Amino acid sequence: MYKLDRYWHGLLHILFPQRCAGCDTVLIHQEHILCSTCLYHLPQTDHHKDTENETAKQLWGKVKFQYAASMLTLSKSSRVQRIIHQLKYDQQPEIGIYLGKMYGEILLENPIVDRVDVIVPIPIHSIKKRKRGYNQSEYFAIGLSEALNIPFDTTCLKRTVNSVSQTRKSRIDRYDNVENAFAFVPQTGGKQTPNHVLLVDDVITTGATIAAAAQQLIDGLGCTVSIVTIARA
Ligand SMILES: [Zn+2]
Repeated sequence: MYKLDRYWHGLLHILFPQRCAGCDTVLIHQEHILCSTCLYHLPQTDHHKDTENETAKQLWGKVKFQYAASMLTLSKSSRVQRIIHQLKYDQQPEIGIYLGKMYGEILLENPIVDRVDVIVPIPIHSIKKRKRGYNQSEYFAIGLSEALNIPFDTTCLKRTVNSVSQTRKSRIDRYDNVENAFAFVPQTGGKQTPNHVLLVDDVITTGATIAAAAQQLIDGLGCTVSIVTIARA
């Protein structure tokens, strides 16, 4: 039976070869999501070692938070950009789980994560979710949740505005556009109120979106918020 499984696995690999999310080369048997070259060259930020990192600085003055970090640096036309693009637009949510597990292992070194009660992904609007089929940040949260052994929650935050043409707006317009984009959803059924939420997103750019979502959690739950993203642009 085992031999037959291996046979089918091999055949499937020939018929539908798995490709690297970073460089599109065909993955070899032991590789998963990323080839060893892309894995080796991932531009890790090392934010977990530095509380005054660039992501934290980006959020200073926008919202009150305990700790903020991004896993990777995103530059134009880079492998990180390709990875994020496939996670978001190419029906590959498993990339999010993979990266979440990877970053979770790294974050275990940081004592802050011991204080986190729940992981909350930044929601996308229900219309976008229906169209895309999934929320990419939720899959990153699933991976983090597995590695850190902390539950995740997708019910306490809702996206109320479907922000579509962000790219055509100026920086200030964008800030206004996201300020009211989220709503806290009061919890029912005797759920315990968390003291410390780890809010997660795919990419931080201006920080306005994350700050708006974090503020809703702070106001709604009276909790401390820490923030983690896959990449910073
Ligand atoms: Zn690769």
